[in-house]
Amino acid sequence: MYDCLVIGAGPAGSTAAYHLAKQGKSVLVVDQATFPRSKPCGGGVSPAIANWFDCDFTPVIKNTVSRVQYTWKLGDSVTIDLVDVPPMWMVRRDQFDNFLIEQATALGAEFKPNTEVSAIKLEGQTWKVQTSQGELEASYLIGADGVKGKTASWLGIKAAKQVPAATLEISTDVAENLQNLAYFDFGSLKNGFMWAFPKSDGFSFSGAYVRDAKGKVADLKKQLTKFAQSLNLDLSKIDYQEYPMNIWDEDRALHTEKALIAGEASGIVDPLIGEGIRPAIFTGVKAAEAVNQALAGNNAALSNYSETINKEWGSDLSKANNVAGMFYKFPKIAYKIGVKRPTAGQTIGKILCGELRYSDVAEKINKKLKGSFIPGFGK
Ligand SMILES: Cc1cc2nc3c(=O)[nH]c(=O)nc-3n(C[C@H](O)[C@H](O)[C@H](O)COP(=O)(O)OP(=O)(O)OC[C@H]3O[C@@H](n4cnc5c(N)ncnc54)[C@H](O)[C@@H]3O)c2cc1C
Repeated sequence: MYDCLVIGAGPAGSTAAYHLAKQGKSVLVVDQATFPRSKPCGGGVSPAIANWFDCDFTPVIKNTVSRVQYTWKLGDSVTIDLVDVPPMWMVRRDQFDNFLIEQATALGAEFKPNTEVSAIKLEGQTWKVQTSQGELEASYLIGADGVKGKTASWLGIKAAKQVPAATLEISTDVAENLQNLAYFDFGSLKNGFMWAFPKSDGFSFSGAYVRDAKGKVADLKKQLTKFAQSLNLDLSKIDYQEYPMNIWDEDRALHTEKALIAGEASGIVDPLIGEGIRPAIFTGVKAAEAVNQALAGNNAALSNYSETINKEWGSDLSKANNVAGMFYKFPKIAYKIGVKRPTAGQTIGKILCGELRYSDVAEKINKKLKGSFIPGFGK
């Protein structure tokens, strides 16, 4: 029997396993996929995640970006250099996620790919986990099974807010002058936005309806293609995938008896900029801490986990939600005031790189946006 079984080997699950293994705990991670596996994602990662690991991420950083171009409906552009922040990492998720699970197994975690969990049951003090490879047992359970995972609902945890999103991957040579530039477009998707990240061997275009759970999925492909065309890229090798996102909407309990959920399963994607990898890793770190403490006899450890995520991450994302609410009311004006001005662009860039938190700036941004809205404009 394992101290902890983790369902899902994405960034959240691998991070939890890494930290549990580091503390000498017996931990098994199972994933239904064969690894390396891909995950529809822009692959922009804040370098701040390095603080949570002892390893060097260089092998999986495909590119770095220190300039950002913002557009309104693919026009009215502004380009800013990110000042005083480390460049943002660009990764390929198949490589990045595989690297993370390898770091966990190097510390002693066990990993079983091709192992789909179909049911969980707490019998006495033991989790009995039914999988495609037979039954497994553990004292504690971490559900890190992502936006499509079922662990949260099996545990009776309230579902997160899900919104439509998609990626368009383009394999092509990327000119050197395009490699250091990330793109964000507002206005093309109603109640959403698009972003494009260059890799050394192609581009990842992403779009999400962050304010609209019923956003028109058909528009995603059309707008992402227009976005790619606007950069004059060779579109002969493309891969388009629709894949939803669980964005933060409200505080919720993220634990039950001897179990907790982490990563996107817990709805921690940033509702303003679509960032999910760093939050997933943060919850993985905190989930491992909680299970560690629970194993040491701290009865409040799992409820403290819910409280910590809600307080340390959720409260910040609630501020992001307020800013998003304001932004998408009059997006055209908000673009001019809240994005296009150099200081505003820098602020977004710093948030992307993990150097600023919404709590540091939300009030100021809201004030600025509120003061600028004239009803009827920007629709
Ligand atoms: C279009 C799009 C673009 C995005 N772009 C960015 C970006 O640029 N930057 C960023 O930070 N975030 C981005 N995100 C968000 C980011 O991809 C996710 O938030 C992140 O992958 C969450 O990590 P995770 O570990 O929680 O889950 P995942 O990475 O989804 O991993 C979950 C794992 O659980 C496994 N699993 C599920 N069910 C079972 C089961 N029953 N049994 C066994 N295994 C199971 C899956 O196979 C999977 O490997 C984007 C998301 C989308 C949709």
